[in-house]
Amino acid sequence: MQNQWNTEDAARFPGDLGQCVYASRLLGADPALVLHGGGNTSVKIAQTNIFGEPETVLYVKGSGSDLATVEAKGFAPVRLDHLRRLTTLETLSDTEWLNELRGSAINAAAPPASVEAMLHALLPAKYVLHSHADAVLAITNTPGGAERIRTIYGDDVVIVPYERPGFPLAKRCAALFAAELSARTAGVVLLRHGLFSFGETAEAAYASMIDLVSRAEAYLAAYPVPAAPVTLPDPQRPLRQELASLRRALSDAAGAPLILTTHDDEPCLRFAQRADVGMISQQGPATPDHVIRTKRAPMIGRDVTAFRAAYESFFQEQQARTGRQLTMLDPAPRVVLDPDLGMVAVGRSAQDAVIAGDIYRHTMAIIAQASALEAYQAQPAADIFDAEYWELEQAKLTLQGRTPMFAGEIGLVTGAASGIGKACVESLLARGAAVVGLDINPAIEQLFDRPDFLGVRCDVTSEEQLIAALERTARAFGGLDMLILNAGIFPPSRRIADMPTAEWRRTMTINLDANMILMREAHALLKHAPRRGRVAIIGSKNVPAPGPGAVAYSASKAALNQLARVAALEWGQDGIRINSLHPNAVFDTGLWTDEVLQARAKHYGLTVEQYKTNNVMQIEVTSRDVAELAAEMCGPLFAKTTASQVPVDGGNERVI
Ligand code: ZN
Repeated sequence: MQNQWNTEDAARFPGDLGQCVYASRLLGADPALVLHGGGNTSVKIAQTNIFGEPETVLYVKGSGSDLATVEAKGFAPVRLDHLRRLTTLETLSDTEWLNELRGSAINAAAPPASVEAMLHALLPAKYVLHSHADAVLAITNTPGGAERIRTIYGDDVVIVPYERPGFPLAKRCAALFAAELSARTAGVVLLRHGLFSFGETAEAAYASMIDLVSRAEAYLAAYPVPAAPVTLPDPQRPLRQELASLRRALSDAAGAPLILTTHDDEPCLRFAQRADVGMISQQGPATPDHVIRTKRAPMIGRDVTAFRAAYESFFQEQQARTGRQLTMLDPAPRVVLDPDLGMVAVGRSAQDAVIAGDIYRHTMAIIAQASALEAYQAQPAADIFDAEYWELEQAKLTLQGRTPMFAGEIGLVTGAASGIGKACVESLLARGAAVVGLDINPAIEQLFDRPDFLGVRCDVTSEEQLIAALERTARAFGGLDMLILNAGIFPPSRRIADMPTAEWRRTMTINLDANMILMREAHALLKHAPRRGRVAIIGSKNVPAPGPGAVAYSASKAALNQLARVAALEWGQDGIRINSLHPNAVFDTGLWTDEVLQARAKHYGLTVEQYKTNNVMQIEVTSRDVAELAAEMCGPLFAKTTASQVPVDGGNERVI
């Protein structure tokens, strides 16, 4: 563990809260310390209240932000004395405790304070940092964890046995701190949860965190994880069908479409292939708040029915134990371990799948390390259930807001680097889908840097490359729900008498053949789409109203139109719907170079400006207009419509 404190960088964060922000970001930047919203930090600041009286305010990280990117406004200011005084109460229900926590805020506009705020309040130091460091979790999640921690740290830390988060944990800490905390205490280790460090400056608190974790790492160095054998899969073996059917089963269990991200790298395969995986992976998470991301245990293999039944009966049993009426969360796993697939991370969105995958990757390393040390032993299932169904943990998930239209669904767009294709990608992303964009232009790979987009360089005239693109789609997101066929070329204006055979064939290959092949190959995936597959085809006004000088384009689009109609007939019984859009005169696309635009305008005896708005309504049609219609055609508005052909052209006299 390296101390990353940089005096120059730190100077750019002025003030006590600024220093806390900087230390928070350093903590958040190291996944071996905290992951995705885990951990929290605080600083105690003396200020005057509205009456001009002195008051110490605890600025503690609020819910909903991530340490790696937190800003000053992500901290919740709460009255320190009030929080401390609460621990003098004998009991406090979750509802009362939450009410007091929220009520102690001095800024109604600030985010809700972290549920661990009271532990920050109880520690006297000015700066307090809390992490879920892998090394400490690997040690404390063993049967002899408490003794090992004592061996490593002696009296430098206060050890807190596992306690239910919220008021019970705060109460327990208050008692332990009163008895054991001294001027020489360097930190607090919460068994099977994490650790706290502190200091009078942010730098000292951070240095102490690095020091404490380094001591745990040094201890673990004597217990290396043995390199178990691993069988790497044949990279040529296609997985897309298997993944799509697994995704369908998982989505059916969840009652909503899910994203699946496959990790078949060596560390994941090695863990998934361990002879003892069925035992070590079923113990529980390394720290309780991971349960909302990964569930208590992953699914081993692909028997979704069995996993679901086990989860449901576990829920019933635990609900009876608590004596409370609870609403069951969806029973689909969030992590799947399979000897052939490695780890499959599951989420309601691509981002959720990324988070589950990142957390479980660390969990696997922690389990392997704990097993090498002694044996991995997580907190008992009942405690993890209580954390999973604790209303404050669930509230973290609902902070994410309402579910978008295409949440958990996957779209693929051809010709996606520019124009209508790029706009289609944006329209699908805006509706919550994960999107794969195909284009021959290598810029597609960098089009959007976000977890729900995959850009694939692909020549659509190559059958091999199209199949490879579908394979990558399934590995990245789990399957395919929506296909938008957009790639096409518009060759230079030419009469039939002058049409070179090669140009005719090339136009047909790109505008027609490639789409037939992609549809054929995508059919089996679309059939497995949880909400049934959808295809939107970017046609052309030329289909109902061809023009002279554009025979190759017009004929290819007309044939594509017929392809769509036949597909609608053949695929209707699979619930797949195919609808076409006929745009006209969309000029912000790659097809329309200035040259082509001027030639076409001249052909009709118009200026370029007149040509652009040459329709019944005299309005310009943009890529975005077309893309929004294509996206809506994949949505519930068109749920009962297939084989439709909708113009998006401002009205065309020849068509009307
Ligand atoms: Zn924690």
